[in-house]
Amino acid sequence: MKLLIFGKSGQVGWELQRALQPLGEVVALDASDADFADPRSVRSAAEAVGPDVIVNAAAYTAVDRAETDEATAMLVNAESVRELAAVAERRGAWLVHYSTDYVFDGKGSVPWCETDTAAPLNAYGRTKLAGEQAIAASACKHLVFRSSWVYAARGQNFVRTMLRLAGERQDLRVIADQHGVPTSAEFLADATCLAILRAHSSGGDGLSGTYHLAPRGHTCWHGIACETLRLAAAVGATLRVTPERVAPIGAADYPLPAPRPSNSRLNVDRVEALLGIRCPDWRVHLERTVAELVRGSNA
Ligand code: NDP
Repeated sequence: MKLLIFGKSGQVGWELQRALQPLGEVVALDASDADFADPRSVRSAAEAVGPDVIVNAAAYTAVDRAETDEATAMLVNAESVRELAAVAERRGAWLVHYSTDYVFDGKGSVPWCETDTAAPLNAYGRTKLAGEQAIAASACKHLVFRSSWVYAARGQNFVRTMLRLAGERQDLRVIADQHGVPTSAEFLADATCLAILRAHSSGGDGLSGTYHLAPRGHTCWHGIACETLRLAAAVGATLRVTPERVAPIGAADYPLPAPRPSNSRLNVDRVEALLGIRCPDWRVHLERTVAELVRGSNA
């Protein structure tokens, strides 16, 4: 099997380069090989490699910047994705793609199912939804994984920010009225490997579709911050801020350019049932990542 990964230097792309190795030959590209703001360059790169599976982890992920740069975000998150779907369709290849809880408006408190109506609140969500729709409109075999609140031991993410700020400040104020689940890039990559194996060996496109892929359980940003600091202290980090000094605040007290959904919970029953993936509790991978970050900073 020949696999082509886009977005190799991002949080998920980096982990995919490790996780997909057992499946076959892996070719991994970044923006210098194919610029997603130029969809033709993406099509050319994909055609030149000639893969059996395309895994797209490249995306315009600057949620707030997208509010004033929606045209570029649309090229990256939708138009280039349309080109990948066309290449996959022509080749009979699978396309694996990632989307987001931000396609939902966040109303209510029930975890979102794949069949629920998408209604993005912000520009990023609109462009990601357009990417999903471009794939669905093509006839390519696809796995679209909607995930939420991704973090890793590298890259820009909430967990790393909390550890840094807890070393610099005396106390922290963190949003407590947006609910969801943090997802480790490591878990996403490992689950993607299992899903590709299952889909590829199924032969046809019976498993083709959209899946919610995230850990089980849920929390809020304040909950992640407190758990991160607790786990860090447990493995010897010296931090100024203890969990007790993290104050819960409302999203209204921390205004950002892009509105975020209040309810980002994702129902993962479908991915577990159809693709045979077990989604662990969110604390399992957080503990590993925090330990890796603390040991790395002590080394
Ligand atoms: P990152 O921001 O860590 O990585 C994004 C990757 O896309 C980087 O490798 C980046 O390259 C690349 N990229 C950005 N712009 C371009 C461009 N114009 N041309 C080519 N490559 C480009 O994202 P994640 O790994 O966190 O996200 C992976 C997927 O998961 C995305 O589809 C995202 O929408 C989705 N997702 C992410 C969530 C999150 O909280 N981060 C939540 C839910 C879903 P470079 O580094 O060179 O800029």
